[in-house]
Amino acid sequence: MSFPASRLRRLRSSDRLRAAVRETRLATDQFIYPLFVCPGEGVKREISAMPGNYQMSVDKLVEESREIAALGIPAIILFGLPESKDPLGSGAYDDNGIVQRATRAVKKEVKDLLVIADCCLCEYTSHGHCGEVVDGKVENDASVELLSKAALAQARAGADIIAPSDMMDGRVAAIRRALDAGGFPNVPIMSYAAKYASVFYGPFREAAESAPQFGDRRGYQMDPANQREAMREIALDVEEGADIILVKPAMPYLDIIQRARQEFNLPIAAYQVSGEYSMIVAAARNGWLDLDGAMVESLTSIKRAGADLIITYFAKTMAKRLS
Ligand SMILES: [Zn+2]
Repeated sequence: MSFPASRLRRLRSSDRLRAAVRETRLATDQFIYPLFVCPGEGVKREISAMPGNYQMSVDKLVEESREIAALGIPAIILFGLPESKDPLGSGAYDDNGIVQRATRAVKKEVKDLLVIADCCLCEYTSHGHCGEVVDGKVENDASVELLSKAALAQARAGADIIAPSDMMDGRVAAIRRALDAGGFPNVPIMSYAAKYASVFYGPFREAAESAPQFGDRRGYQMDPANQREAMREIALDVEEGADIILVKPAMPYLDIIQRARQEFNLPIAAYQVSGEYSMIVAAARNGWLDLDGAMVESLTSIKRAGADLIITYFAKTMAKRLS
């Protein structure tokens, strides 16, 4: 059937009708809210490149977590700013490391909120790389050992999900083995399976103070030009035991999310990263974009591409809008 019998505008004629035939819906219970925990007490410092986001000490983070849970957001993902850094990133696997302390506090004080532990070394290493550096290079297998220790420390602290974000080869299998041997066979792994070496992480590096001190991360994160390689990365992580796979960033990589949705049957998460958030907020502050509209449209596009879960700095604003 074609025009004039077919008139697609018929179903667009009112709010009610448009809502009734809408294919993609956002829901609060699919959001994950990223939080940055720092040392001290009573600290809540706004991150200048990410307005509305803060570095918070454990006590403030617990307060914030209560508010997040009350909004119906099911999960937070934690990033840590340690007191001190060293070449081997020991703060990542110290039982008293900053994320482990925050996890224990939130699990104790806030009912009904999942704590996801981002598992990486870059926030804890003095050189800012995601693994152990030997002769100026990030050494894969040694890094995997440290990451397994970090995952175990996070599970011991009570983390509900471990999310390795380092992009070392073989780390999902090693973390699975470590968790199983350590008595945590039921703690799922959400692997950053397709994580690209993206310029959109810029504002996060201010937030987590994790910029590499030399070189860049292109030796382990993916080349933005590659799609087929992402499917290989995801397939390997699935084989190694990942329970949820994650694509990062989100909006510049919707094709990766969509293809992953078609090729794999496990839940897919997407990370709307700091740069995606900050450019929308900055444009809105300049009067160039409508903040609310850009937020809804960007999140809808990520969901439409096939993401089940979305990590987003808009989680609170969006949850309030949906309630
Ligand atoms: Zn890292």
